[in-house]
Amino acid sequence: MQDPEIEKLPKTSKKRIFIGLLGLTFALIMLLILIGGWIATIGLNHIHPMVTLAAQITAGIAFVLLSGIIAALILTVLLEKELPFTHKIRGLGIKLFLPLMEILGPRLGISKEQVRNSFIETNNRMLLTGNRHKIAPERMLLLLPHCLQRADCQRRITTSIDNCQQCGRCNIDALIKLARHYNIHIAVATGGTLARKIVRDHKPKMIVAVACERDLTSGIHDTFPLPVYGILNQRPEGPCWNTLVETIEVENALKTFLKIQ
Ligand code: SF4
Repeated sequence: MQDPEIEKLPKTSKKRIFIGLLGLTFALIMLLILIGGWIATIGLNHIHPMVTLAAQITAGIAFVLLSGIIAALILTVLLEKELPFTHKIRGLGIKLFLPLMEILGPRLGISKEQVRNSFIETNNRMLLTGNRHKIAPERMLLLLPHCLQRADCQRRITTSIDNCQQCGRCNIDALIKLARHYNIHIAVATGGTLARKIVRDHKPKMIVAVACERDLTSGIHDTFPLPVYGILNQRPEGPCWNTLVETIEVENALKTFLKIQ
């Protein structure tokens, strides 16, 4: 079941969790660089003063680079828009810092799910407010998790979603109708490997993805720089079982990002 405490959090709180953890992670890395540099300096001084100098310069460069990345990330999140040259830095930051934030968060009483939720929310806000170009329908992919399908349904919709009989017992029916209405690709994935294959096959310019916190976070992380707008599924019967999604939320995302003639 989705954590109701997370749902109660306003969007600004989710952003604050992300920025706060980002800052703490940065401070921790800096502390490690300082301690490591100090220990190395003592040891290296015995070899040659030039070696010490080289180590100090390396630590200085690492400090400046990481500070730049973190400042760009925090500014991008705060201003909710891409700054010039920050796109690549943001990707590097996400790949480097997010896994560390997932380790640090639970030690501070913030669950992994909350960290991921704040990350997804922040990612979505940046996509909504960034310099976005409208996507042609044929380059848009709607990617769904297998758990949206009724557990007792025998249709093999992961092979082809056209195998769905559209009986209306789960959200897959309404989502197929949406995809046909907007003329976009739609696919169902059982996990990361199949999702990556679908992305390779369809070569989308953007993905609207429905999944749980864990799968959305890893999807956004793995497919960067491809933009992924994440919509959380609802789990009234527990994780991975007869999950649901607000189809209106999916349609709103499509309307926002699609080039509609
Ligand atoms: S709409 Fe019906 S046929 Fe299609 S996946 Fe859901 S339960 Fe199966």
